[in-house]
Amino acid sequence: MCGNTCPRGAFFDRILRHFSQGKKIPGFLKDKRFRLSVFFFVFGMFIVQASQSPFTAEHFGHIFWMMCTATTMLAIFLGLFFSRRTWCTFCPVGTFISFVGKDNHSLTIDKNLCVSCRLCEKACPLNINITKDRESGILSDNDCLKCRECVAACPKRALGSLEMREDLFLSKLAEKLDQDSAKTYSHADVWK
Ligand code: SF4
Ligand code: SF4
Repeated sequence: MCGNTCPRGAFFDRILRHFSQGKKIPGFLKDKRFRLSVFFFVFGMFIVQASQSPFTAEHFGHIFWMMCTATTMLAIFLGLFFSRRTWCTFCPVGTFISFVGKDNHSLTIDKNLCVSCRLCEKACPLNINITKDRESGILSDNDCLKCRECVAACPKRALGSLEMREDLFLSKLAEKLDQDSAKTYSHADVWK
């Protein structure tokens, strides 16, 4: 969810994307142990720095500014070579949110429409393995930013959300009823 509200993420999507080589994100950056290490290191550094001086807003602001600058420089460096959102795979805030925001507004995959072309995965800035959840029909990766770039890239309209699927179902049903309102339609008939 932070992916839609984070100013740094917006910078990656609007500016950095034009300069990024977009190479695949190295696997170890997504590893849970690596991510937890970064999480504890960054917050540990913040606590250590904060405890070395009196509790003033100016001091906290200075530490916050220093940490934001250092992490943004690292994020830009990584984003220039790999996918623009590489930093997001192990950002401490993203790690925290992916734990607390489990299963919220997950994307859906319709296996009857999907042809495994993987264009969605190529479009995904986090290189998420979307097609591995074809059978279950619900994207299980909690790091998904809900940016919907994969939805736009899918030529078969196989991706969406539960809400989108419901809207599409109702509009298809309305079309069928317009053609023949006396007929009874099963769930499968509507999707045909
Ligand atoms: S782009 Fe659409 S059809 Fe292609 S693999 Fe992804 S979900 Fe399936
Ligand atoms: S919405 Fe799609 S493209 Fe965006 S992060 Fe999630 S899986 Fe990747």
